Amino acid sequence: MQKNIKKLYQQVLLDHNKNPRNFKLIENPTHVARGVNPLCGDEYQLYLRIEKDIVQEVGFKGEGCAISKSVSSMMTQAIIGQHVHHVIELKDQFITMLTEEISEHDAGHLLGHLTIFESVKDFPIRVKCATLIWRALEAAINQTSTNVSTE
Ligand code: ZN
Repeated sequence: MQKNIKKLYQQVLLDHNKNPRNFKLIENPTHVARGVNPLCGDEYQLYLRIEKDIVQEVGFKGEGCAISKSVSSMMTQAIIGQHVHHVIELKDQFITMLTEEISEHDAGHLLGHLTIFESVKDFPIRVKCATLIWRALEAAINQTSTNVSTE
C-alpha cells in the first residue's frame, strides 16, 4: 500500500471508529436490516428512510471492530441523499473491490475515499467485517431478509 494511502486509512479508521457518523436510530425508517458477523462479533442494525427512491435519512447502531464500524460510518455518508440505483451500484463496487480480482483501473470509480478499504483484501478474515454493513444495506433495500449473517 502506498505510504500516504496507508496513513489516510489509519486516520479514517481512527476517526470514524471514535466518532461514527449517523450513529443513531432514525424516526420512521422505511427499511431496516440487521447484520451479524459472528466470526468477529460485529453486530449492527441499519435504518433507512427512503422516499421517492432517494435515501432521505440513514442511521446505524450496534457494536463491532474498528473496520466494521468505520466502514458503516463512511457508508452512511456515501449513501445519504443518493438515489437507490446509485446506492446499489456503490454497494456492488465496494463488495467487488474486496471479493474479486479486479485491476486497479477498474476499482470502484464511484467509491471515493471508500477505496482506502481495498487493503482489507489482504486480510481475508476482515473482509466480512468490511462488507457486513453493505450486505445489510442490500437486504434492507431488497427487503428479502432483515437478518444477515456472514456465516
Ligand atoms: Zn469485525
